[in-house]
Amino acid sequence: MTRNIERRGLLLVLSSPSGAGKSTLSRLLLEKDKNITLSVSMTTRTPRPGEKDGVDYNFVSTEEFVNLVKQDGFLEHAKVFDNYYGTPAAPVEKALKEGSDVLFDIDWQGTQQLSQKVAKDLVRVFILPPSKHELARRLKERAQDSAEVVAKRMSKASEEISHWDGYDYIIVNDDLQKAEQQLFAILQAERLNRERQTGLVSFVHKIIGEE
Ligand code: 5GP
Repeated sequence: MTRNIERRGLLLVLSSPSGAGKSTLSRLLLEKDKNITLSVSMTTRTPRPGEKDGVDYNFVSTEEFVNLVKQDGFLEHAKVFDNYYGTPAAPVEKALKEGSDVLFDIDWQGTQQLSQKVAKDLVRVFILPPSKHELARRLKERAQDSAEVVAKRMSKASEEISHWDGYDYIIVNDDLQKAEQQLFAILQAERLNRERQTGLVSFVHKIIGEE
C-alpha cells in the first residue's frame, strides 16, 4: 500500500530569459503532474495573439495593478520590459492550503522577493538556452513580437542570465524531452525533502511501534 505522508507544499520557481523554453516546460510539467498548479500572474502588458485572460495571465490596467500593490495583495511584483508583473498572494495561499504545490513562471527579481518571504519551501530552477545563437533563433522564430521588441529582449536576455547563481538548480535546455525529465526529477526529489515531510515523525513512530 502506498502511504501519503503529510508534507508542506512547495513553491517551484522557473526563470529564464525569454526563448529558453520555460513556457513549454511549465506546460509539460503541469500536464504530467496533477499535484502542481500554476500561479497565474497579473500583468499590465497587452495579450499576445492566442493568450487567454485568466489562463496565461490576468491582464489588468496599471490602475488595477497599483491598487493591488497598495492593498499588499502581491507575494512579489516587478517591472519587466516596461510592464508590471506580479504574483497575487491569495490563489497561492489557497492552493498550498489545499495540499497542492505551486509553479511560478517569474523573473529573477520576483524570485529574489520570494526567497526573502518563503525561503524554506522555495525551489528555484533556472533554464539556460544551449547557446546565444539558439536563443536568438528561438526568439525570431516566435516572432509574435515586433523586431524592435525581439532586439530588446535579446539584450535583456544576458541581464536575466547573469542572475543564474541565485537559483538552486540549472537546466540547459538543448533537448526538450531531457529538460522535461530533469525538471520532473527535481520536483520528485524535492517532494521527498525530509524537513518538508511534516508527517514523518508520526509515520516513523508507528513503524517502530511507539504509537
Ligand atoms: P512575458 O511578457 O514574455 O510573458 O514575460 C516576461 C517576463 O516576465 C518573463 O521572464 C516572465 O517569467 C516574467 N514574469 C511573468 N510573470 C511574472 C510575475 O508575476 N512576476 C515576476 N517578477 N515576473 C514575471
